[in-house]
Amino acid sequence: MNLVFIGPPGAGKGTQAWRLAEKYSFCHLSTGDILRAAVASQTPLGLQAEQLMRDGALVPDALILELLETYLKEHSCSSGVIFDGFPRTLPQASALGELLARAGMSLHAAVEFRIDDALLEERMRSRIAQMGVARADDTVETLRKRLAVYHEQTSPVLSYYRNCGLLLSIDGAADVDSVFQQIEKGLLFELLPEGA
Ligand code: AMP
Repeated sequence: MNLVFIGPPGAGKGTQAWRLAEKYSFCHLSTGDILRAAVASQTPLGLQAEQLMRDGALVPDALILELLETYLKEHSCSSGVIFDGFPRTLPQASALGELLARAGMSLHAAVEFRIDDALLEERMRSRIAQMGVARADDTVETLRKRLAVYHEQTSPVLSYYRNCGLLLSIDGAADVDSVFQQIEKGLLFELLPEGA
């Protein structure tokens, strides 16, 4: 099963993707994690992405697509892939469709994590108060920028998948376990083996 997880920064996509991937042996492809690793090891990709990420802007589509193709070449994902934080733009969404089609694969669902901007800001403030700043883009100012980018550039991706009949919207404000249950329930017919 191939899934995309779409939601604003801090909505919990990574945690849920990790859990679902563990349970069903899916590959978990987080473009953000791959980019952060590239920045940490100062690869050419990392050097190009670093400032954009720090500013809360998107990394150009061409770099993201290259990263994605490399990942899929290097990993065997026969059970499926969770694309976490990708696609974030319409060109990325159509490129993903083409890439999957070329590999004889398809997308089963796009999971949208719905959550208010104000709640995300509140969560970030309390996390920083408790644990300090964990990442270069971990500031309220950058969060606001990233939210603006999300509404502007990523929202059209939601409409795109809604029109394809693939969108599953879940309440991202709920606690971690109930978000997981919502996702599993939403995907139930796809996840259960036939006749179960
Ligand atoms: P994330 O961990 O998914 O929130 O991503 C962290 C940062 O990496 C984002 O703010 C972007 O700068 C960059 N990034 C991650 N995924 C993408 C993507 N699919 N397209 C463009 N930029 C991305």
